Amino acid sequence: MIIKVDNLVKSFGENEVLKDVSFHVNEGEVVCIIGPSGSGKSTLLRCLNRLEEAQGGSIRVFDTDVIHVKDLNAFRENIGMVFQMFNLFPNYTVMQNITLAPVQLGKMTQQEAEKRGMELLAMVGLEEKRDVYPSTLSGGQKQRIAIARALAMNPRIMLFDEPTSALDPEMVGEVLNVMKELAQEGMTMVIVTHEMGFAKEVADRVIFMGDGVIIEEAPPNDLFNSPKHERTQKFLKSVL
Ligand code: ADP
Ligand code: MG
Repeated sequence: MIIKVDNLVKSFGENEVLKDVSFHVNEGEVVCIIGPSGSGKSTLLRCLNRLEEAQGGSIRVFDTDVIHVKDLNAFRENIGMVFQMFNLFPNYTVMQNITLAPVQLGKMTQQEAEKRGMELLAMVGLEEKRDVYPSTLSGGQKQRIAIARALAMNPRIMLFDEPTSALDPEMVGEVLNVMKELAQEGMTMVIVTHEMGFAKEVADRVIFMGDGVIIEEAPPNDLFNSPKHERTQKFLKSVL
């Protein structure tokens, strides 16, 4: 078990947005989180690397007690995160974007980081873009670079928060393909997504969230073909 969340509670002021959430992720597993807007999916993901502070419960990632971790930066080095918006550094080239963190944090020399950077660019199919600036890239290309950048630190797990939601439809596939490949390589991944076809095909388990709780959790075939709860059924009807 690489992630273990027990009875997690998270509030923003009076608004309790995660209510007693428990789940786990095994090493090498791909878990997709689906559910309506505002149900707490992003907050849950952000609690995993402590971009949000929880008010109750426990979160273990690797062997770290996330709520009480002392060296947050060292802990976060093992977790790659990709958001809806690409957040590339606009004044750095593609290769500089990828090599910046591993070099600055002393994980690799510039030369090592560039060698790894070229492997990652090959993986996302963008080797020819190494020296261009992000503004010259399409949305799908930016997101593939954002994935490469997150992988440059050689993280043990990858978190994705709606990585294709801001993309034009014709660019969604190229990003999902990179994620699929990563899954096939055995990367542990937690993915918040509205791409039901992708979840069906790639996830080992799917979690359906509503109003700050996990309503249902099952392998994709079960969850999509025979959802047990009425709210899951309703949600799936509205999106499929
Ligand atoms: P989802 O990702 O499923 O759409 P979120 O986790 O973004 O849901 O949000 C869950 C709830 O928490 C929403 O009611 C949202 O308004 C609230 N929320 C999220 N982030 C903050 C924040 N930084 N401050 C206050 N409320 C927040
Ligand atoms: Mg969200």
